[in-house]
Amino acid sequence: MADKKMLNKIALITGGTSGIGFACACRFAAEGAKLVLADLFADKGAEAVAKLEAEYGADVLFVPTDVTLEADMQALGEAIRNTYGRVDAVIAAAGIASGNNPAGTTVEPNPDPEANMVINKPLASWQKVLDVNLTGVMLTNKVMARLMIDAGVQGTIVNIASVAARRPLPGAADYCVSKAGVEMLTKVLSVELMPYGIRVNAIGPGFIETPMTANLRSDNEGNMMVMAMTPMARYGRAEEIASTALFLSTAESSYFGGQILFPAGGMFTG
Ligand code: NAP
Repeated sequence: MADKKMLNKIALITGGTSGIGFACACRFAAEGAKLVLADLFADKGAEAVAKLEAEYGADVLFVPTDVTLEADMQALGEAIRNTYGRVDAVIAAAGIASGNNPAGTTVEPNPDPEANMVINKPLASWQKVLDVNLTGVMLTNKVMARLMIDAGVQGTIVNIASVAARRPLPGAADYCVSKAGVEMLTKVLSVELMPYGIRVNAIGPGFIETPMTANLRSDNEGNMMVMAMTPMARYGRAEEIASTALFLSTAESSYFGGQILFPAGGMFTG
């Protein structure tokens, strides 16, 4: 019990019912955290809560939340304030792939590769990706940092970016730009919050086995592209990202601030 790294810590995870967010929830629950999961759909929320309770005996609150809506984020902040009075660790993992990403996403890929290029990209598709992946992270950071400051908590915030923050992926300009924005948001916020003792860092995963990459992984060309970009020549597991999130959410990383770590199978080795 004493060895648990997040014993009685309150952890908020957006996008917490699926993929990387759910893997973080499992790992944090195993380490003794009390969880708040924020995600779009109540049915997926109920399923995630049931699994976490059954497997870890975890204390889990699910709050249906659209991270793009400030009113939802404020309501989430209030729910956490009323239930726990504070938040210690935040993982901003809610995100979507490029609406027209030819690499394949949870959204049906557009069969015409030309349609995904900036010169043809529908404005609505661009705005949707920026709204969820960048503005959603900013709103999560804003509301949760305020809660930490009000409660006098010297907590941690971890934003999930991507290798796409640094790597231009043709056909996914919106996704790449949103993740580059998350990296810079993390740096600015980190400096702003240092006086309060709150540490903000980011993770830039490579290609990970989650529902987001389901189409990509079922496509030969997609797999070849991923293997060519990834020296370890395999997809990452969501648990490998959760380990990085745990590191950045505990005192093990106490001298990290405003950094982005890339668990990405050796990408960016030069
Ligand atoms: P995922 O399994 O699709 O999980 C994303 C979660 O975010 C889903 O539960 C999704 O809900 C939720 N979500 C989407 N829009 C939302 C909104 N407006 N408000 C609240 N929740 C919302 O994908 P994942 O791979 O775990 O992705 C998690 C994060 O990692 C994302 O930021 C992604 O960009 C990043 N990432 C993933 C990879 C990868 O290879 N998988 C690589 C680098 C970075 P629904 O599915 O129910 O709509």
